[in-house]
Amino acid sequence: MDLKEKVRIIENFPIPGISFKDITPLLSDPDVYLETIRQLDILVDTLNEKPDVIVAPESRGFLFGVPLALKRGIGFVPVRKPGKLPCAVISEEYKLEYGTNKIEVHADAISKGDKVLIVDDLIATGGTLEATAKLIEKMGGNIIGIVAVIELTEVGGIEKLKKYRPKALISYP
Ligand code: AMP
Repeated sequence: MDLKEKVRIIENFPIPGISFKDITPLLSDPDVYLETIRQLDILVDTLNEKPDVIVAPESRGFLFGVPLALKRGIGFVPVRKPGKLPCAVISEEYKLEYGTNKIEVHADAISKGDKVLIVDDLIATGGTLEATAKLIEKMGGNIIGIVAVIELTEVGGIEKLKKYRPKALISYP
């Protein structure tokens, strides 16, 4: 199944100049959703290392990270915006074009030496994923790779994340 055909493109959303890749058609048809998870699972196999746990940033990362973790029979750890997680957290701040953002994860969610796979819907600038990776490294986790449904090859994220072995099912320039 060609998943690229299912992605809906909306030009100039949410602001002029952005070509928005809408992944909701991948979710609304269960056969397409299952196929997306099946293809992500095969992509993980190409890393040649088995993850112990999947970590994903909110919120679209959850849509692919959770079913993939269930399919592989491993745990899932959510990375969230500040103030959402109830227990002790580790956080990471990162720069945006204007200002900064922060993400958090439960401090006891990753143990030293855990083999971690990071999952997201789309790699654009890679800002969120780089912060997620740094957060995991701070906790002693060993990042075995990053997989996403979509990569935008000319926005810089793939280059920025190179050392974490980013892979995606669908590419756009
Ligand atoms: P980034 O940190 O720039 O790699 O992007 C963070 C998140 O923003 C991605 O995981 C997507 O959920 C969303 N995003 C960024 N650019 C796009 C785009 N062109 N189309 C759809 N979603 C996007």
